[in-house]
Amino acid sequence: MNPAGVARVTTGCSEAPVLRERGQREVFCGLTGIIWLHRKIQDAFFLIVGSRTCAHLMQSAAGVMIFAEPRFATAVIEERDLAGMADANEELDRVVTQLLARRPEIKLLFLVGSCPSEVIKLDLSRAAGRLNEKFAPTTRILNYSGSGIETTFTQGEDACLAALVPEMPEAPAGAPASLLVVGSLADVVEDQFRRLFDDLGIGPVGFLPPRSSTELPAVGPNTRFLMAQPYLAETRRVLEKRGAQALQAPYPFGAEGTTAWLKAAADCFGVDESRFTAVTALGRERAKRALSHYQQQLAGKSIFFFPDSQLEIPLARFLSRELSMRIAEIGTPYLHRQNLAAELDLLPDGTVLSEGQDVDRQLDRARAARPDLTVCGLGLANPLEAEGLTTKWAIELVFTPIQGYEQAGDLAELFARPLNRAARLEV
Ligand code: SF4
Repeated sequence: MNPAGVARVTTGCSEAPVLRERGQREVFCGLTGIIWLHRKIQDAFFLIVGSRTCAHLMQSAAGVMIFAEPRFATAVIEERDLAGMADANEELDRVVTQLLARRPEIKLLFLVGSCPSEVIKLDLSRAAGRLNEKFAPTTRILNYSGSGIETTFTQGEDACLAALVPEMPEAPAGAPASLLVVGSLADVVEDQFRRLFDDLGIGPVGFLPPRSSTELPAVGPNTRFLMAQPYLAETRRVLEKRGAQALQAPYPFGAEGTTAWLKAAADCFGVDESRFTAVTALGRERAKRALSHYQQQLAGKSIFFFPDSQLEIPLARFLSRELSMRIAEIGTPYLHRQNLAAELDLLPDGTVLSEGQDVDRQLDRARAARPDLTVCGLGLANPLEAEGLTTKWAIELVFTPIQGYEQAGDLAELFARPLNRAARLEV
């Protein structure tokens, strides 16, 4: 058994060679994270400082959600040269002032940078400092970058949470050990985990991001943190800088992953074995039962992951170990070994791992492998479907609650559904 309580049946992929590619890539930029972050931090507002392209991306990516009062918007800064920068700053101040006058309930405003050259020239951290002088403490103004040059897709959340860490209060010296769960989770999943930690006698437990920006948990050398998402490398680094210590664990996908994730916290907080088993037994059994419905359909099927959300490695581990799927290739935009150590240990020997992307070469490998299921971004799905490959949109895996015991069946269903659809079309 490894420290997280998971039986190792393979020697894993900790030392396995990784194919590193640095070619053209097909991944959303970090602005996309706003779609789930604005729902999570309920008194925050995300003001994208960008171009019409950014506004269109957000509109189409979030277009399915209709809000009377949306909590994100784009300040369009375009066609200004360096001489026009003073105007751009004035324009930004005007937009923020107008917004906060109209929406006094906003307690935290993020200025989110993007990649048009007009925006790169703007110093958003200075702008945030200047606006803070005017609006803090009623409204705090922070900034981070969601630019497509610096971030892919889920890295937007990493940049946002890393910007929040300096705002977290200092845990008083001598405070009892506390647990911090790091990474956005759907509220329903957060509530389930909170109940499990309560039943295990682990506490106090904080979540980053919190539901309200005024409830940022304290952090300090007595904080132990569990990552709920694998793509938070910068957030981890800044938390460690504040003295918090990361607990190594696989991510809470499936019965096994969830148990191992909870066990890492239980071991750290001295929960005895019998209590751990008693608290987790029912959930684990329910998850296993839910997964058994998909076993027959998914076992033996091959799956190919294009790099997209950075969830690829934990998901592949779940699919191979709990549903007996065969892994053709796991592509991930970045492979953070520190964040994925416990996951790499659990992958089958010989798994093909690739980091970054050279999209044409990877498409060739996918065509040669002819996987039963391909997980990829929206841009690749249609062409691959036209070539007869069955695809799953990676973005759905980020938007759907998939962590924890109660969601294990839903997670398996997400992979079974496209295969069902393909089977029905064949008939
Ligand atoms: Fe496009 Fe850059 Fe705006 Fe993202 S940030 S939508 S990549 S222009």
